[in-house]
Amino acid sequence: METRVRCAVLALVFVLLCLSGCSGADRKQTDEFYGMGTLVTVTLYGEGRAAEDGFARVRALVAELEGLWSLNVETSDIARLNRSDGGIPDADERTVALLEKAQALCAATDGNFDVTLASLSALWQNCGDENRLPTDGEIADRLARVGTGRLELSGTAVGKPEGVTVDLGAIAKGEAVSLLIRLLDGTEGLTGGLVSMGSSIAVFGGKPDGKPFRVSVRDPKDGTKTVGTLTLLPGEVLSVSGDYERFVTIDGEPYHHILDPRTGYPSASGLSSVAVIAEDGATADALSTAFMVMGEKKTTDFRQSGAYAFEALLIRTDGTLAGTAGMPALE
Ligand code: AMP
Ligand code: MG
Repeated sequence: METRVRCAVLALVFVLLCLSGCSGADRKQTDEFYGMGTLVTVTLYGEGRAAEDGFARVRALVAELEGLWSLNVETSDIARLNRSDGGIPDADERTVALLEKAQALCAATDGNFDVTLASLSALWQNCGDENRLPTDGEIADRLARVGTGRLELSGTAVGKPEGVTVDLGAIAKGEAVSLLIRLLDGTEGLTGGLVSMGSSIAVFGGKPDGKPFRVSVRDPKDGTKTVGTLTLLPGEVLSVSGDYERFVTIDGEPYHHILDPRTGYPSASGLSSVAVIAEDGATADALSTAFMVMGEKKTTDFRQSGAYAFEALLIRTDGTLAGTAGMPALE
């Protein structure tokens, strides 16, 4: 065979091999976009068409949930609730369901997780802009408006005392990840995948190579490093909270975004980051935030109480690690 022809045949074989490898039923595809204030990453294994359809459905649901829960979308249930004097009559059932979970988690964590800290978060944000600490009076005023238990849920109606405002920032992404996995799992043509919304991540099905899904947990002190990787099983959601995620700077000092409802100040429990694995995303997300406030001892006691099923990895401010008994080992 003439060299040129031989080359052409080889090139064709290569292209065909590549196409069959790339478009097989186990093909890996990834979509990335910004939604609900974070980077959303979706990885799907399966047929190209099914994955494309999956990406479109994920984007649509994230947009819908953002339209319900974002503080920045004027027409969202939460923005409308916060603007109202006494509540709204027509919240989406998913909003009511999430607020119900938030109430249960607030009660179970002795108020350390509380979605009505919104006005206190706003105060710290303003103080960061003005480079000053909040006054004791300002803190006391905002704390007087806290109390998830004071929300009244009935059907599609959400009632609240005047001045109480809601911020779902510590629970919404976990809930969204659970809803997205439920949307994708079982889709014909998809064999598995992963959905990550910044600090919450979950998987479904399996990988074509049969290996488990692995996720790394970042080093709270250095975003370029990890403290190790974890195996994440289908049916589990991993949520991570940390004092490095967001903060304001006042007089050169960082004040992070997880607030202690007792003091009105950023949590100072000796923990720098907490990772929680639970079956329900809202639970994992809310508990990771709550444990940052509660600290190691109260978290261990909470685990023993059996109120919620979960495992937690605690990263202390000195960089050492602790974990609940069933927490999968870091590699
Ligand atoms: P996360 O990153 O999931 O820990 O959530 C932190 C966000 O939740 C903050 O940016 C606040 O909007 C809000 N937040 C802060 N402290 C608390 C708390 N103790 N309970 C509930 N939400 C909180
Ligand atoms: Mg959280």
